[in-house]
Amino acid sequence: MAASPQRPPVAVLLLVLLSCLTGGLSIPDPRLREALIRLEDSMQAGGKMELTDAEKRLDALLLKMKQEETARADFPPAMHFFKARDLIRASPIFSVLQKMPKGGALHVHDLSMVDVEWVVKNVTYRPHCYMCFTDNRSIRFIFSSQWPKPRPGCSPWALLEALRAKTKNATDLDNSIMNNLTLFTDQDPEVVYPSQDVVWDRFEQTFQALWGLVTYTPVFRDYFYRGLGQFYTDNVMYLEVRSLLPELYELDGSTHDKTFTLKSYQDVTEQFTANYPDFFGVRFISTVHRGVNMSVMTEVVEEAMKLQKDFPHIMAGFDMVGREENGRPLWYFREALSLPQERGINLPFFFHAGETDLEGTDVDQNLLDALLFNTSRIGHGFALLRHPVAKDLSRKSKVAVEVCPVSNQVMKLVKDLRNHPAAVLMLENHPLVISSDDPAAFGAVGLSYDFYEAFVGFGGIKSHLGSLKQLAMNSIRYSSLSPQHQEKALALWNTKWNKFVSEIAR
Ligand SMILES: [Zn+2]
Repeated sequence: MAASPQRPPVAVLLLVLLSCLTGGLSIPDPRLREALIRLEDSMQAGGKMELTDAEKRLDALLLKMKQEETARADFPPAMHFFKARDLIRASPIFSVLQKMPKGGALHVHDLSMVDVEWVVKNVTYRPHCYMCFTDNRSIRFIFSSQWPKPRPGCSPWALLEALRAKTKNATDLDNSIMNNLTLFTDQDPEVVYPSQDVVWDRFEQTFQALWGLVTYTPVFRDYFYRGLGQFYTDNVMYLEVRSLLPELYELDGSTHDKTFTLKSYQDVTEQFTANYPDFFGVRFISTVHRGVNMSVMTEVVEEAMKLQKDFPHIMAGFDMVGREENGRPLWYFREALSLPQERGINLPFFFHAGETDLEGTDVDQNLLDALLFNTSRIGHGFALLRHPVAKDLSRKSKVAVEVCPVSNQVMKLVKDLRNHPAAVLMLENHPLVISSDDPAAFGAVGLSYDFYEAFVGFGGIKSHLGSLKQLAMNSIRYSSLSPQHQEKALALWNTKWNKFVSEIAR
């Protein structure tokens, strides 16, 4: 077993001892200082990575860019993402990160993969699309060949095509639809979303608004294809997508079961990889809202075990979604979650846990409980630093934390991304991957914005090209792919990486 990277080499300890003995008031030995700096540098993510000459050239370029960026008065990671987005888009580091092969995105939700502008301009312009306005100022949609039945809590349905024909300004209507499908706003986000309660409420409303649009079978397939395209264009070669596996519907109101949904995902993925052979693929994590009761949880765990058995090549495992504070803690569902093990069935868990700043509550125990249930990774793990035992366990058992910086900021867990707890995890080379959670809800696309916040924000000046390389490789190493597939994916990634380095360094 390799020595723990946190343990200083003996030579350094001796130097420290020597310095203490000969110490007094004299200036500390500069060699000791140098050794300690190098020791700390080597402990961080990618700290031990040997860089090629071309990589060193690119690294020097990135360092220069980062120093210039850090010196700015309007430093993007210190600002709310909604205000920082245009500045990030103009950043030379961001353009390098967009081109960088980032490996996989392991924490992405299916209904927030595609920019909402495409949804409005493409999906809502299809025929037979009806819209209604809810009592709590949101909207709902349905595609139907006949006039749909009234929906409780919603205004009478309006055929969008007719509504657009009557409206003087179709752009205003489109913009107002768009605003209902994402949290992103041009107004001051601190005013629009003054608390976690408000932002979570609006967040869940956006999903409900999207639901009727995206779960219509033809749209579902196009939406997912478009989502894969957006990640692929952002140089992401592999995805692990969390999905509620919604029941899809047809124009006549008939519906399909979850197997159909998973098969549709499989078909679209195959179609996409046939068109883009250097895209490695997608695996799915089936999810359920954590607000359900025990009998529903038992049912969905049973269902997930069956799907895992029937689709082992594309099913990665199981997770729960929704705000941790509003749902039930993992421990509440311990009986349902123990079923797979009791029956000797393999159902890997990928629990969201520690996406909270409420220290010491029942929900705050989710991190330890996730590890007790042998979770394969931890979604967010924002509270990990406040759980030294969980942190130690996740390091020792190589349970990677899926860090989603933009999400954590928009959902109001941290204001200035330099202060994100993953700064510590990165400095210790804790197993972690960077992901984007719900990019469309946050006005982001793909994965590069999150890499920017990680690299420029909490990575500080110290994180370098080796750190980026490590993070990209982590996304394959900590994926649910089999060891053989990981080797194949790493080989593919490596070819992409070398091409990227030689092109940019030139
Ligand atoms: Zn999530």
